[in-house]
Amino acid sequence: MKRTLKSIKRVIEALLFLAVLALGWKYPYLAYCLVLNVAVGLAGALRHGGRHGCGNFCPRGAFYSLLPDTGRKVPPALLKKNLSIVVMVAMFAGLALWLRPMSLRAWGMLLYIMIAITTTVGIIGWLVFNRYFWCSVCPMGKIYKTIWPLKSGIRVAETCVKCGLCAKACPFGFFPPGEAKDGLFRNPDCMHCRRCVERCPRHALSLFSTVEEMRNETKNH
Ligand code: SF4
Ligand code: SF4
Repeated sequence: MKRTLKSIKRVIEALLFLAVLALGWKYPYLAYCLVLNVAVGLAGALRHGGRHGCGNFCPRGAFYSLLPDTGRKVPPALLKKNLSIVVMVAMFAGLALWLRPMSLRAWGMLLYIMIAITTTVGIIGWLVFNRYFWCSVCPMGKIYKTIWPLKSGIRVAETCVKCGLCAKACPFGFFPPGEAKDGLFRNPDCMHCRRCVERCPRHALSLFSTVEEMRNETKNH
């Protein structure tokens, strides 16, 4: 039931994102939704740590999650922080070059153009690599994970048989059983999307997405 509600929520978020993309050219104020999106992502980072907002609240991430899976993985090199810093510097340099007194409508149009360009890059990345290509280089995702990188984690139970299905389900190819220390997988790039948890046929993975859950879990082990 919880899973169904989450899926419906993600579809609604994806539709809202598409509506902004389709109508933003005519109504640039719609692009200010991006500010709300960032605020929710920051709240997610503070409450849950890392990139929780990417896998649970980001409307663009929701849109990408509906695209067909190419079966290819995001190359691990793209998850490197430096690449996102390059993307961020390029975006802000573009903004700085443009910087001049403008109306709110004009700023909305600028935001809209940024959303449209980055979404197009993400779609090309989907065709070449994986539907989560943009998520791997998104500067906001890197900011979220820098705020509180390892607040949460995935507990790997002893019932795991190392079949590797969880790694196949993970957009970034993370393999929690192989990368866990003392039975706990913690990676600041994990988006808390739960795909690995739901894919595991042995129910060996449990996601702890708040600091309280993490503390209790650590105490019990
Ligand atoms: S899918 Fe489950 S059983 Fe298979 S490797 Fe991953 S955690 Fe272990
Ligand atoms: S490790 Fe699991 S929860 Fe984290 S991004 Fe991969 S599939 Fe999602």
